[in-house]
Amino acid sequence: MTQRSTPASPLPTSKIPAVPPRILLGPGPSNANPSVLQAMMQPMIGYLDPDFMLIMDEVRELLQRVFQTDDANTLAISGTGSSGMEAGLSSLLEPGDTVVMCIYGFFCERMVEMATRIGANVVPLRADWGRPFPEEMLNAELKKHTNVKMVTAIHAETSTGVRQPMPDLARLAKEHDALFMVDTVTSLGGNEVAFDEWDADYAYSATQKCLGCPPGLSPVALSQRALQSIRDRSQPPVSWYLDLNLLGNYWGWTEPRVYHHTAPVSMILALRQGLRLALSEGLESRFERHAHNARALSAGLEAIGLECVVPEEHRLAQITVVGIPDGVEDAPVRQRLLRGFGIEIGGGLGELAGKVWRVGLMGESSKAEYVLALLSALETTLPEFGYEVASGAGVSAASVELGTAAVS
Ligand SMILES: *Cc1c(COP(=O)(O)O)cnc(C)c1O
Repeated sequence: MTQRSTPASPLPTSKIPAVPPRILLGPGPSNANPSVLQAMMQPMIGYLDPDFMLIMDEVRELLQRVFQTDDANTLAISGTGSSGMEAGLSSLLEPGDTVVMCIYGFFCERMVEMATRIGANVVPLRADWGRPFPEEMLNAELKKHTNVKMVTAIHAETSTGVRQPMPDLARLAKEHDALFMVDTVTSLGGNEVAFDEWDADYAYSATQKCLGCPPGLSPVALSQRALQSIRDRSQPPVSWYLDLNLLGNYWGWTEPRVYHHTAPVSMILALRQGLRLALSEGLESRFERHAHNARALSAGLEAIGLECVVPEEHRLAQITVVGIPDGVEDAPVRQRLLRGFGIEIGGGLGELAGKVWRVGLMGESSKAEYVLALLSALETTLPEFGYEVASGAGVSAASVELGTAAVS
């Protein structure tokens, strides 16, 4: 057989033939570890190949360790964090089921939207953005109902930068015999997610925040009790693609495995590498790294006169929300940081749009040198926009904080 001998046409031209390197300090995606990207360059393999099944088994086990659970079922949904959110709501709620939703930020409102579309009886409990949700509010509401199917909350509200204490909310849900669903999109790999200790029923996350992987998968954990409640539904969930029971049948929660959809093979290889890196660093050291770099960042921001919105004791390490000084415009500053310094930071969402910047130090992006690079870039940039900064003030305050322990 002869090979086609005509040369291939040159590639169509592109304005951006290669992706420029960026320091990603926004609310995600964060930088991906190079060995994670390398893992994606392995050859393609069939999604039912026996060796790929072994890789999936490994991913399930690694996820159990990162979610800190012995008994929960784990898998990674083909989709971003929102797919994990939608899979949980659509699999666990039937039309008419009562769901009490703790609302204290932008992503909480997304949950309300999804649960409403599913036809659930949604009871939204709205509390102030920028402060932890008061458990008394949940307690008082639950007392008014006899039949609550589920309570939902978000561990790390990326729109406000607040770390929500979980155990009390989870306990209240249990006392009322309700399932407890928690968003750990921005917390998994960045601060402690203790699925078993919280007695959670469903948690979902995303690969591109604190796990050091590209966007594309939503790792989840589902308790036995929650799985049983899906199996006991009177009607199957309206979403076939996000039916956690069907996904579990493919991921090996039961034998024999049943084909569902073509798994995004390369992303699963990436996640496996990301999880191995997280465990080899050690979860505790990883959380400490995030906390340490965040302390340095807020010390630096405060030294140049910017105000962190969340009180220190409630602050998340992986996302710092800082007020934009009066008279300084939001978008042009972020544009200058990106174009002049290759640094991306995030703007505000919802009611905080235009009022705050959100600086993410997530996973691979939580590095001392990135904290210093951002502060130095701000010291140069802010005066160009009419906000005077004592040169070096931010960098030196952060350095003092960073000098207190060895960091990566
Ligand atoms: C980013 C984020 C989401 C949405 O995740 P996507 O991967 O963008 O779909 C949901 N919840 C929280 C708390 C988030 O930070």
